[in-house]
Amino acid sequence: MRDISSKTKLAALIGWPVGHSVSPAMHNTAYEDLGFDGLYVALQIPSESLEQGVRAMQLFGFMGCNVTIPHKKEVMAFMDELDDSAQACGAVNTVLFRDGKLKGYNTDGTGFVRGMREKGGFDPAGKTGLIAGAGGAALGVAFALAAAGTGKLLIVNRTVSKAEALASELNKKYPGIAEAFALTEDNESTAIKRSDYVVNTTNLGMMPNVDTVAIDTSLLEARHFVSDVVYAPLETRLLREAKARGCRTMNGIWMLVYQGLEAIRIWTGLDASPLVMHDAAVAALKDRQ
Ligand code: NAP
Repeated sequence: MRDISSKTKLAALIGWPVGHSVSPAMHNTAYEDLGFDGLYVALQIPSESLEQGVRAMQLFGFMGCNVTIPHKKEVMAFMDELDDSAQACGAVNTVLFRDGKLKGYNTDGTGFVRGMREKGGFDPAGKTGLIAGAGGAALGVAFALAAAGTGKLLIVNRTVSKAEALASELNKKYPGIAEAFALTEDNESTAIKRSDYVVNTTNLGMMPNVDTVAIDTSLLEARHFVSDVVYAPLETRLLREAKARGCRTMNGIWMLVYQGLEAIRIWTGLDASPLVMHDAAVAALKDRQ
């Protein structure tokens, strides 16, 4: 049993609901592995009490918090400062409490790109990416890919107006980087041919709909790097079929791991072990299934 004292540094995940989250297991295992005296808890905070909840953590001397659905945009209103990662995409998933000030970051996207480079062995700089989906996950990932110097982003979504809105935001900051398409067979086929890598940010493939897939995998070639942000199941149909076609792949748990790892670095300056966090997250996921 770890010794929890008044010196223990506190962090939390705030959202509604948060009961299903594997982040406490992932963070607490990382702190123990680092020999860091920290404790990470999940706090369920309703939207109407968001500011009170954030101010209470500040009062109690928390080092920081992660923010999840539905608070990622609303929490921005209480930040004294925004890092470029959050400013660019308009969403905060990590808050640093320091010297009485609150600074907001977005490590969802930066974590995804770091995972892509370190775990996937793929550098998106100068490459063309196909992003399937245009929701919250796509937002963070697309801006981080743009910041990492990706050449083009082809955004394909069921509701084309959402793809157009995301492309338009990206093009304001990175002129000409993004194109939007409706999720049709023809558009998909053209986009897959033009792309070097594919990121699924839709819910397709997620439990219980494990047989669904966002793109026609028969069009994939071994040159494509294919990743999924869905992590339940760990190997989605997209990744299974991409692997069978000789593609390099990265599953969604690495995005979760690296966004957490980046948050720990922001709060403590320490670099946690991705593997330790990965194994803790996978074990916690299995416990929940
Ligand atoms: P969201 O904002 O609700 O967006 C969902 C996206 O999926 C939209 O683009 C939606 O298209 C598309 N979609 C949903 N059902 C579809 C269907 N039947 N056919 C075609 N497209 C469909 O959700 P989100 O927050 O982006 O989350 C998306 C996924 O990412 C979830 O599985 C979530 O668990 C995962 N995620 C993972 C991480 C990680 O750390 N690995 C982090 C964040 C999220 P429309 O616009 O047409 O509705």
